[in-house]
Amino acid sequence: MSEHALRKELLALISGKVLFDEPMARHASMGVGGNADILVYPKDVDELRKVITFFDGSSVEYLPIGNCTNLIVRDGGYRGALVSLEKLKRLERCGEGGGDAIVAAGAGTLLSHVVDFSLKESLSGLEFCAGIPGSVGGGVRMNAGAWGREMKDVVHSVECMDRGGKLSTVERPHLHFEYRQLRLSRELIITGAMFKLGREIQDVIRRKITGVLSMRRKEQPLDCRSAGCIFRNPAGGFAGKLIDEAGLKGRRIGDACVSDRHANYIVNEGNARAEDIMTLISIIKKEVRERFGVLLEPEVHIIGEARD
Ligand SMILES: Cc1cc2nc3c(=O)[nH]c(=O)nc-3n(C[C@H](O)[C@H](O)[C@H](O)COP(=O)(O)OP(=O)(O)OC[C@H]3O[C@@H](n4cnc5c(N)ncnc54)[C@H](O)[C@@H]3O)c2cc1C
Repeated sequence: MSEHALRKELLALISGKVLFDEPMARHASMGVGGNADILVYPKDVDELRKVITFFDGSSVEYLPIGNCTNLIVRDGGYRGALVSLEKLKRLERCGEGGGDAIVAAGAGTLLSHVVDFSLKESLSGLEFCAGIPGSVGGGVRMNAGAWGREMKDVVHSVECMDRGGKLSTVERPHLHFEYRQLRLSRELIITGAMFKLGREIQDVIRRKITGVLSMRRKEQPLDCRSAGCIFRNPAGGFAGKLIDEAGLKGRRIGDACVSDRHANYIVNEGNARAEDIMTLISIIKKEVRERFGVLLEPEVHIIGEARD
């Protein structure tokens, strides 16, 4: 199919927004990134099914994305379609049992909204997510966590769509969570999740959330554009501590800079390019390896092509 025909068919297929040659710097929390050939926003699961079966049939590569707070698209862009789950929003209390309650959330619901909802409903368990800027889909996929708590502690089940457009629910015992990832077939797109939360006095929950947010403000460069922690913590240690001890705070390539406040954050202080961040990542890896013999691995997901 010609590019023109593909675009025309896609636009006719769904009512949700479809963007072509879209600069991902506009969408990524880091403020960097080349163009995605296609960025599409299905408005519900039916439209999601339509677009992925269409892409499959047209041999267009696609990748689900959430709020792009853990994603860097390289400057040469992404050849294929980024499928945003942003419009799949849902948030409701949908079951009770013992001292617990179940909250269901759509993949596109922001974690901050789930935290606010839990507080309103006097439900505890997700306070650690306060200040994590991702979506439910991205949070579950990344097994997002902070201060010793992770998604795996609260996820009850996950709803996924496969390449054929079939929806299924995977219960907690069959979900394989690891440090900062859910082992999930690349074929599957998370469309929603259920969280099992405990009943608690509202003031207790509010105090926990306030505590988490003030720790974040103290330790993290929240006034700058970033993707959160750039590297995974190595076994038994902290990437930020190693980067700091290697004297790399403040190291800069272009407008990309190792944060003075938290050494595991690379911040975009203006017009950084993805390649500046990639170069900084390589320098950090090399220096930390030479100095401590530790190989740091990026936590942030890097996709797309380098610019020629
Ligand atoms: C200031 C700041 C603070 C942060 N603090 C933390 C923190 O404390 N703890 C932490 O863990 N992270 C933190 N992060 C990183 C980030 O917010 C989390 O990893 C978050 O869970 C990513 O969610 P997202 O919706 O933005 O995902 P995206 O960045 O859009 O995607 C991340 C990955 O998940 C995949 N994905 C997204 N949605 C789906 C889906 N529906 N189905 C299947 N795969 C999907 C994407 O393909 C990609 O590989 C922080 C980031 C920032 C900018």
